[in-house]
Order: sequence, then C-alpha cells, then structure tokens
Amino acid sequence: MRFVINHIGHLFSYNMVYPKETGVREMAILTIKDLDFSYHSPQGETKALTDINLTVNEGEFISIVGPSGCGKSTLLSIIAGLTPVADGFFVNNATIGYMLQRDHLFEWRTIYDNVILGLEIKKILTQENIKRVDRLLERYGLDAFKNKRPSELSGGMRQRAALIRTLALNPDILLLDEPFSALDYQTRLRVSDDIGEIIKEEKKTALLVTHDLSEAIAMGDRVVVLSERPGTIRKIIDINFDGLSPLERRNAPEFQEYFHELWRCFS
Ligand code: ADP
Repeated sequence: MRFVINHIGHLFSYNMVYPKETGVREMAILTIKDLDFSYHSPQGETKALTDINLTVNEGEFISIVGPSGCGKSTLLSIIAGLTPVADGFFVNNATIGYMLQRDHLFEWRTIYDNVILGLEIKKILTQENIKRVDRLLERYGLDAFKNKRPSELSGGMRQRAALIRTLALNPDILLLDEPFSALDYQTRLRVSDDIGEIIKEEKKTALLVTHDLSEAIAMGDRVVVLSERPGTIRKIIDINFDGLSPLERRNAPEFQEYFHELWRCFS
C-alpha cells in the first residue's frame, strides 16, 4: 500500500502491527518505507533524504534529531503533505496537524479568535468543535485569557494557545518543527514540559524535530537520529522513564546515560 498525501487531513486505511515479543496489540498510524527525496532546481538536484524506514504507533512520541540541513524539516513537510512525494509512506486513517517554530498568532484577533481560526477556515465551526475548544482552553489554563490579544500573553502561554489552535482541529498526529526554539531557556523547559503533558493527556501521536538532544530525550518515547545529508536513519533509541514528565526525566539518573548514547551518534 502506498499513498501520496495531497493535503493535511487526508484519510487513509488502517494498518495493524502485532509485535511478537510483547503480544501487545499496537496500531501503526504512520509507516515510512524506503523513502527517498530530492529537491530539484535549475542549479541541479539536492538529495535531502534517502532510504528512510520508520513505523510510528498510535500515541507514540517520536523525537527526530540530526545535524543541521540533514532533512528533518523536509521529512515533516513530506508527512504533512506539503511536499508531495510519489511514494514512500502511508498515514493510516489519521489527520495531521502541524506546529511551527513561531506561534503565528494574529495580533488583530483575540486568543479565542486565533484558536478557532483553523475551524473557521475549514468551515467546521460546529457545536462539537466549539465545545472542544472551550474544554481545551479551560483545561489548559487559557480560559481567563481568551479575550486578550497575543501580545498580552507570555511566550509560554502563546505557545500553548498555538497548540490549542492545532488541537482544535482534532488531529491524530501532531508534527512539531522546533516549536520551542524561539523561547528563552527557562521558558523552554517549562513549555516543553507543559506541551509534552498536554499531548500525552490528549492521547496524540507526535513527531518532534529538535536540535536539542536533552529535549529529544525529555519528550520522546523514541529518538530517531538522522545522518548528515542526505539524511538516513542512523539509529533509533528507545527511551523509557516509566511515566515521568519531561522535567522529571531531566532529573532521573538514566537521563545522562541516554544523553551519552545519543551524543555518541554525533561523535
Ligand atoms: P533540516 O531541517 O535538517 O535543517 P532541511 O529539511 O531544511 O534540513 O533541508 C535539507 C536539505 O535540503 C538542506 O541541504 C537544504 O539546503 C535543502 N533544501 C531545503 N529546502 C530546499 C528547497 N526548497 N530547494 C532546494 N533545496 C532545499
């Protein structure tokens, strides 16, 4: 089965995976198989990705790291359907939401009007969707700020509002392209903890691109390490912290071991 995703939100069929070793039934939500990708311009071809193979199960949080220019953003853009490819991956009956480095909140709209923007554009401002937005705003502490303008909120709250805007469309898979890189270090730690918890609570599958190895370990169930361009998967590291939050993980004794293992991939 091979598909091209033409736009965000395309529907596909399910693909079941039953890992032999655990007997646990897991659902593959995204399968990337032998994916290659090159950019073409009048100056020639730039091979960005080669031989990418990855299966992501429902509810998993995948961190993707690799040297600058190795194709991380290209990979997310392909999965989002923004960069069309002929074959190489399938998304199984899932919708996709994309969260970028900057929050892109519009100052001329209130937080509430920003959060419902996607629903408005897609003309799906239904009672059910409005209820979901209200629940998200209330649950994640933005209810009291819904009539404020973005400039009246802290960087962390703005990022939370951007996440709620993405969640308002109820995507199954969230693509996060360095979403914390515009924040200062302390805010970044708090916001990544916050966003990581929200994604887990909402039971979403997530793929996070980051250049921050600690962040990758603090947030991911697995860390995918890409090689230099053309990016290919050099290693996949399973991360297991038994239910700890991203901030708690950073203080756990295993954290340094994971960090060294990851660091060795770059040296
Ligand atoms: P990363 O996100 O890992 O920094 P990118 O996915 O942005 O890497 O880019 C991978 C490679 O593809 C880089 O060498 C980049 O210069 C090149 N590239 C990215 N976008 C384009 C484009 N539109 N046209 C040509 N080359 C591109």
